Amino acid sequence: MTTMTAAVLQYHGDRDAVKLISVPLPQPKPGEVRIKVEACALNWLDVGIRRGPKFGAIPLPLITGSDIAGVIDAVGDQVEGWAAGDAVLVYPLITCSVCELCRSGSLTVCPDHKIIGEHINGGLAEYVTVPAANLIRKPDSLSFEAVAALPVVGMTAWHMLITLGQLRVGETVLIPGAGGGVASISVQIARHAGAHILATTSSPEKMQKAHDLGAEVVVDYRDPTWTAQILDATAQRGVDMVQNNVGASTWADSLAVLARNGRLVVCGSHAGTNFDLSIPQIYHRQLRIIGANGGTYPGLVTVLKLAESGVVQPVVDTVLPLSEIHEGHRLLEERDHFGKVVIRIA
Ligand SMILES: [Zn+2]
Repeated sequence: MTTMTAAVLQYHGDRDAVKLISVPLPQPKPGEVRIKVEACALNWLDVGIRRGPKFGAIPLPLITGSDIAGVIDAVGDQVEGWAAGDAVLVYPLITCSVCELCRSGSLTVCPDHKIIGEHINGGLAEYVTVPAANLIRKPDSLSFEAVAALPVVGMTAWHMLITLGQLRVGETVLIPGAGGGVASISVQIARHAGAHILATTSSPEKMQKAHDLGAEVVVDYRDPTWTAQILDATAQRGVDMVQNNVGASTWADSLAVLARNGRLVVCGSHAGTNFDLSIPQIYHRQLRIIGANGGTYPGLVTVLKLAESGVVQPVVDTVLPLSEIHEGHRLLEERDHFGKVVIRIA
């Protein structure tokens, strides 16, 4: 076999820019393995890359897909500890490991970092090659669809809430857009951390699901009084943290519901990239704005262990075959999902 089927982004544009075509089968270089992909989840990243990059150029044509789960089928030179037949998931960040930031542990802001599925080919294909250093063994108790639903959102949620956000037992955290992939895992991680969770979402069905995952207060963000409802629920004090991966359109409300000394932890901007900030409200109430970029390998391993023990449930909304990749993009773009959209490859 010398070719494979892949969903290839051929130009930046609408959903038709992604085409199912036959491409050469990738060969593992030294230090890499080739994975026969079983499942690959979609992220807003796939939509964002398709529409056009926010930072730097994207190499086209490109196979996106950063949430890879599958079985190793070929092992390159200089790889130890992995063999054909091993079931794995993939940590999607590749860092240089030699710069000052990598050496001090801040790998997520390595200036030379690459994301599998953004800067190099990802998993929306029958096969993908990845560095062996990015592999994590798949627990037998979790399906390929379940583990594919974890890497990007699991590592991001952990990085935002725990590593950078320093969420503490008894604190209150608002998670806007609880139907999103990151948010649906974040609610569960925040619950595990002992926080009180408030969430926003957009329909009675989604509100019930957010409740079921652990949110104590859920409000409908289409209701213009929702920020008043959040303040009422905290006796007008406000929340200790807002975890915002939505973007500019939600920043004013996020800042408005923060308690004094509160922190806004930010990752993602699909609902707008620029915001007119009132500086006095930041210093007068001693607010902190914390940027979070991606997540770490240990963070993902921790979330995977929580999933294995049942503390965190990967939230899979829909499983589609690769031939329905356009429908997958539509579900994300129209927010017509709660949790993850997973593409089943094999
Ligand atoms: Zn580096």
